[in-house]
Amino acid sequence: SNPILEVKGLRKSFQISNGMFRKQKFLNAVNGISFSVSEGKTFSIVGESGCGKSTTGRLISRLITPTEGEVWINGEEISRKKESELANVRKEVQMVFQDPYASLNPRMKVRDIIAEPLEIHTKLTKKEQNSLISEMMEIVGLSDYQAGLYAHEFSGGQRQRIGIARALIMKPKLIVADEPVSALDVSVQSQILNLLKELQKELKLTYLFISHDLSVVEHISDSIGVMYLGEIVESGSREMIFSEPQHPYTKALLSSVPIPDPKLKRDRIILKGDLPSPVNPPTGCKFHTRCPEAMDICKTVEPSLVYNKKMERMVSCHLQQETTDSNYIQI
Ligand code: SF4
Ligand code: MG
Repeated sequence: SNPILEVKGLRKSFQISNGMFRKQKFLNAVNGISFSVSEGKTFSIVGESGCGKSTTGRLISRLITPTEGEVWINGEEISRKKESELANVRKEVQMVFQDPYASLNPRMKVRDIIAEPLEIHTKLTKKEQNSLISEMMEIVGLSDYQAGLYAHEFSGGQRQRIGIARALIMKPKLIVADEPVSALDVSVQSQILNLLKELQKELKLTYLFISHDLSVVEHISDSIGVMYLGEIVESGSREMIFSEPQHPYTKALLSSVPIPDPKLKRDRIILKGDLPSPVNPPTGCKFHTRCPEAMDICKTVEPSLVYNKKMERMVSCHLQQETTDSNYIQI
């Protein structure tokens, strides 16, 4: 089916002043990434905090403007549009944020929180608004009367349901969910993930799901992109990434995902050192300072992201160079 989201060579650099001569430096938060997500599918971006995931989500939602590259939403290129031209985007793309405590105003009634996008983007009457709000409350598993309560009267999981209701009320096509369950207890996490999955089926939603945790995205993803220092280093179907990770960074991330069957126990790969500063990224392969499989060439020559036909995925690693027939993946 049609891609709802297409990202081509997306880049965002922030200018920062640095040092005693206030020399201008650039931080490439997102450094030329490409992917595409079909209607009703979930693409997950996974990586450590600081790798550019949230910036990617904000670029796609046009909360910030890309430095370079293209973002297509449902066939419309939005990366250069002015705010006044973004009305469609503001309806079709909605975000769900990490911390339902921080993203909801505790002094507002839930009804008004959920109605806020309607107030901004529509001319619906109060009555029309209320019937939509009831519909949304039900769809996320809350009761109608709870719309009259304040956000602080709800648990974390319920607040995330409110956040989801608010995101859905504009009937969006694409939901950008940035760490939507990271602030929740594990038992509540799976409830919210299941809810997101059900809603996706029912409403044909397309998800861009952002998480630092591969285990969180395991059951919700159709495909996965692993990000490191602003770049996608491996991407492919969820099955392939989980069963046969190719990039050493993906292998390390996956090694910390618990598996139910103890016989299948993976050896935990502990990466040495911290994520390098994106202001001064390592030369060659940006992962070489931490890569357990690094070779001499990795220090000087940057591997390019190429399609590995046999392994059915894109990988950027000198151990993986095979066929190149696509610059970005179609999912
Ligand atoms: Fe590791 Fe080298 Fe591959 Fe980079 S290119 S991931 S340093 S083996
Ligand atoms: Mg983040």
